[in-house]
Amino acid sequence: MTATSTATAAARTAEATVYGYPRQGADRELKKAIEGYWKGRVGADELRCTAAELRRTNWRQLADAGIREVPTGDFSYYDHVLDASVMVGAIPDRHRAAVEADRLDGYFAMARGTQDVAPLEMTKWFDTNYHYLVPELGPGTVFRADSGKQVAELTEALALGHTGRPVLVGPVTYLLLAKPAPGVAPDFEPLTLLDRLLPVYAEILADLRAAGAEWVQLDEPALVQDRTPAELNATARAYRDLGALTDRPRLLVASYFDRLGEALPVLAKSGVEGLAFDFTGPAAANLDDLAAVGGLPGKRLVAGVVDGRNVWINDLGKSLATLGTLLGLADRVDVAASCSLLHVPLDAEAEKGIDPQIGRWLAFARQKTGEIATLARGLREGTGAISAQLAANRADMASRASSSLTRDPEVRARAAAVTDAHTRRSQPYSERAAAQRERLRLPLLPTTSIGSFPQTGELRTARADLRAGRIGTAAYEERIEAEIREVIAFQEKTGIDVLVHGEPERNDMVQYFAERLTGYLATQHGWVQSYGTRYVRPPILAGDISRPEPMTVRWTSYAQSLTQKPVKGMLTGPVTMLAWSFVRDDQPLADTARQVALALRDEVNDLEEAGSSVIQVDEPALRETLPLRAADHGGYLAWATESFRLSTSGVRPDSQIHTHMCYAEFGDILQAIDDLDADVISLEAARSHMQVADELAASGYPREAGPGVYDIHSPRVPDIEEATALLRKGLEAIAPERLWVNPDCGLKTRGWTEVRAALENLVAAARELRPTL
Ligand code: GLN
Ligand code: ZN
Repeated sequence: MTATSTATAAARTAEATVYGYPRQGADRELKKAIEGYWKGRVGADELRCTAAELRRTNWRQLADAGIREVPTGDFSYYDHVLDASVMVGAIPDRHRAAVEADRLDGYFAMARGTQDVAPLEMTKWFDTNYHYLVPELGPGTVFRADSGKQVAELTEALALGHTGRPVLVGPVTYLLLAKPAPGVAPDFEPLTLLDRLLPVYAEILADLRAAGAEWVQLDEPALVQDRTPAELNATARAYRDLGALTDRPRLLVASYFDRLGEALPVLAKSGVEGLAFDFTGPAAANLDDLAAVGGLPGKRLVAGVVDGRNVWINDLGKSLATLGTLLGLADRVDVAASCSLLHVPLDAEAEKGIDPQIGRWLAFARQKTGEIATLARGLREGTGAISAQLAANRADMASRASSSLTRDPEVRARAAAVTDAHTRRSQPYSERAAAQRERLRLPLLPTTSIGSFPQTGELRTARADLRAGRIGTAAYEERIEAEIREVIAFQEKTGIDVLVHGEPERNDMVQYFAERLTGYLATQHGWVQSYGTRYVRPPILAGDISRPEPMTVRWTSYAQSLTQKPVKGMLTGPVTMLAWSFVRDDQPLADTARQVALALRDEVNDLEEAGSSVIQVDEPALRETLPLRAADHGGYLAWATESFRLSTSGVRPDSQIHTHMCYAEFGDILQAIDDLDADVISLEAARSHMQVADELAASGYPREAGPGVYDIHSPRVPDIEEATALLRKGLEAIAPERLWVNPDCGLKTRGWTEVRAALENLVAAARELRPTL
């Protein structure tokens, strides 16, 4: 066949497909059923019925939208990586008895732990906010095929008249995401188990074929990260072996979240029948890389042209152009979202509170499915067949581009006028440190906390009462002030040196600010799974960002009026404001970050003006938004650190800027931490026994630091001895004039009883050590 006739044939057969769909249901029915089951209010059969009903609804919705081959097995009671562990029999020893006694309860025990047994560790799924349960493997792991869940869900879809394509975590990604089980040598590499795992996948594939699967999708997102030659060889072996199986469905290997890079030729040469690629954002590089290997002759190519991680409508014209190029590169080209639609909310149409004009720019899972179907139809039947959709899409894109929400000339002029000088403090760190010592007159080993104090039931009730109109603003604010008085009084009595107001007015550290900045939208039903039954509603950063009025000054000033000690102003930094929102996709992230930074800069300056001598700007998400490929780190860290400095560098030399980070290994961003040019940093460290103090010291970090000595993720209260021991360890790495004493993170999830005891012990430990220094 000539290239043109290949392209024509590929176009004629183009289909729409997706890799996964939001699990929770329109009204988060799944969350309610599972939590009801945990509390004993919902029976196992009722839970199973609810789940089956949700799958049925999802498949129906997909089929009605024009998806011929629906995903199966992507549904989960908790997490699909945990499902994969069950599927290959990788049940940790400590959970075996529970799983044998009752599969469902054993499953939830692995996910959540029980009184006696720890759960699997949980961590972020690549650079998303979805968390998976980390497989625990060791040299003694014996895999055993358990295709039950996958077969049952496929069978269910087939019985409903759908064509189902089971979606499985691929074997290479499964092993690369695993870690050594407790008790196994920490340098054990799970990938060495590949030869043991492949026969188990072979068995599962045979079962799925027997159950009626034409195609099976194996997800290998780990291949979009930098991989060693050994890992690439393992990938080649895995897909040579699976490809050579005779009793199996056709295989579609899916990659997403970035470009495949050096793994692309490996997969292109393998014996599988289909490959799925992400073509959005930086992953668009896949297009050239595919052309460079001569395309995928004889294979099915699934083109992820609709962004599966963001909430904006697709530029259909641009996607058609990409698809047009791809048509010449494979025998069959199908259209998809870049990744599972699990990462976006279900239905933009449910958002009645958003201006309908702006609502037209939004595409959640349901709308994205429609876009995918439209694009596939355009390929099959020609653009004439979708001319109405194309025209509407062009109009919506144009209205977004020219809206005063997305383009505020004042904000743009101010951002354009930013120079390097705006991102630098007026004096170098050493001079500032001296001026701050003079002004603050803190003791050695100053004690402080990270910001929030326990969010009590009364606070949540007060917020709910305000929302429901049961109390007015004045009553609500009086409630908040009462809480601040209590938090300040406690800290004074305990002898803490730098106080906080406790953040009682904040529901969430990003949402609170998003609600006060122009350019952000809030959703009512935009739930996205974070982990298990926990769903979040990220705000949508839709337009140019400005701050109509001060956001926190009122509360910080009130707190400061109650005490002679310094009260830290408390803000969420620009990188974290972006990381935990849906961000706009019509300009570089660096531009968006700069606008947010300027709004925060005004807040920082207003706090200083109102009397704050210490201001903390939290950046817990700095590490987690690091791009998946090392080659992209430099560009990201440059704008990330610049935006932090832009928000914090407008203050006097003797005002002290703090920052805070958590949930991360900081080892690979130490330089960036220094580039923030903050005067003091507090970091999570209690669980790693102050390891971060050594890392900071080894990197020559010159500033003050507070590696956490109280693990706030645990109800355990460290006693004075334990805190003293951790501080001694910190002092081996950090000089006494530069070491702070604080918890790992905010205290909002803890109870008052623990918090009281823990902070008292921290102060006692600091007091015990001071005379010895
Ligand atoms: N200041 C915030 C708090 O104390 C920081 C939270 C965080 O780091 N995630 O809650
Ligand atoms: Zn934290």
